[in-house]
Amino acid sequence: MTHSPTTEAVVIGAGPNGLTAAIELARAGLTVEVFEAEPTVGGGARTEELTLPGFRHDPCSTAHPFGVGSPVFKTMPLDKYGLRWVHPDLPMAHPFPDGSAAVLSRAVGETAASLGPRDAGAYRRMLAPFLGRWDEVARDVMRAQWSGLPGSPLLFARFGMLGGLPATVLARRFRDAPARALIAGAAGHLSTPLYGLSSGGAALMFLLAGHTVGWPLARGGSQAISDALAGYLKDLGGTIHTGTTVTSLKELPPARAYVFDTSPTALTRIAGLPKDYRGFRYGPAAFKIDYALDGPVPWRSPQAARAGTIHVGGTISEVEAGLLPALHGSAPQAPYLLAAQPSLFDPTRAPEGKHVFWVYGRVPNGWRGDATEAIERQLERFAPGFRDRVLARAISGPAELAARNANYVGGDYACGATAGLRSVLRPTLRRVPYATSDPAVFLCSAATPPGPGVHGMSGHHAARAVLKALWRDRAGGSARPSHGW
Ligand SMILES: Cc1cc2nc3c(=O)[nH]c(=O)nc-3n(C[C@H](O)[C@H](O)[C@H](O)COP(=O)(O)OP(=O)(O)OC[C@H]3O[C@@H](n4cnc5c(N)ncnc54)[C@H](O)[C@@H]3O)c2cc1C
Repeated sequence: MTHSPTTEAVVIGAGPNGLTAAIELARAGLTVEVFEAEPTVGGGARTEELTLPGFRHDPCSTAHPFGVGSPVFKTMPLDKYGLRWVHPDLPMAHPFPDGSAAVLSRAVGETAASLGPRDAGAYRRMLAPFLGRWDEVARDVMRAQWSGLPGSPLLFARFGMLGGLPATVLARRFRDAPARALIAGAAGHLSTPLYGLSSGGAALMFLLAGHTVGWPLARGGSQAISDALAGYLKDLGGTIHTGTTVTSLKELPPARAYVFDTSPTALTRIAGLPKDYRGFRYGPAAFKIDYALDGPVPWRSPQAARAGTIHVGGTISEVEAGLLPALHGSAPQAPYLLAAQPSLFDPTRAPEGKHVFWVYGRVPNGWRGDATEAIERQLERFAPGFRDRVLARAISGPAELAARNANYVGGDYACGATAGLRSVLRPTLRRVPYATSDPAVFLCSAATPPGPGVHGMSGHHAARAVLKALWRDRAGGSARPSHGW
């Protein structure tokens, strides 16, 4: 491996956060090298032919409310590097077995109407203070909590009063099943019980994003996001080495900062900091199936056929029953499923007339069973005849997910538990969550705030922490790091 003799910052891992951290450091004038274990960049934002030739699957992320709405991605010319957002007709649908559905539409009125007359007004009132103000909400909710007061304190306080509630409490604002299920399904993106603190905040963010910025897909697959980030980084002078698993800091060039887009566990091992993340816990795993289909999914609900993302579970109590067992160590009989059907809106993903489709449910961390039958039984409730459309499946349980991306420890796609305060106090209680006990070593992955998702904000905040530390050091303030220089 050849290294630049003048490297100032090294980033380990080329996921969205690692690439964003590298871009921020390069934009600040540092020479940056990135080392990625896999043959391609992207981490959780990749695209591969997992099943049959011509079927381009996203093994992880597909819908990007927080990508299109990311405060830091907005500062980057990613369109110049090929990124095109494709907006499905509906960002999301939450169907019921009788063929009806609650929908998340760009238009609040369409969503409100789908919830029925008794809840339409309450839904509009809940969202009204935040509509048209995504940039402020996203900036303050996705900010590093240590970096000072929110920019719009009143709006943030108002959001916090609702978002701090458990989803089950938020759902009580509504009288009928569709609205309650809509809240539950959106909160179910986190591996948090619906009665858990901040699960309401997750629901609110997903719903608000749907109305304000949408839940778009990247044309050609999520790899396009990562390729755009990598292309921009290279033009800023950054270097990326793929196919290079880092096992020790000694393998890396001397540098002033080492920024880890890895799990906390890998950081402790590689940087030799065994005490830093003692007590850090991983959450439940995903059990994901990527399908090549002979035609579109035969949803009973016509609205589900218009949506990029589908929440498959039914009522709020069914969603809860589909989520809780994984948190308590067993696999659910009727899992709550997140599903995506990108080829309905992006024809580049599959041969003409054919489709790619993915679905995942939650299972316990490290679980070794096979959830395929339970997942397909659940799908058939909402899309009878689904199995007849299947040409091929790529099944990824916890072990396969972890083998594909070392950050998914035990199959935990959130890189750390998100239950309770762990969704905000990540990865451990520390004033600067991106710093470690070694002043030259930083963590920038989804294990840090604001947590999982393709938005690059953890990378952005970690890079700011690096630059602050380097500036302090230049001014003669801090201890010298034990590596590099
Ligand atoms: C099934 C699934 C579906 C998802 N769906 C969505 C979605 O629709 N929308 C969304 O926004 N998010 C989604 N996510 C979450 C999203 O993919 C992640 O939160 C996001 O990718 C985290 O970015 P990151 O940069 O922190 O880490 P990652 O994207 O995980 O990248 C980490 C990188 O570091 C590399 N690495 C790790 N260890 C080493 C090492 N020792 N040496 C060198 N390289 C190393 C890895 O190979 C990887 O490339 C999904 C995740 C999963 C698993």
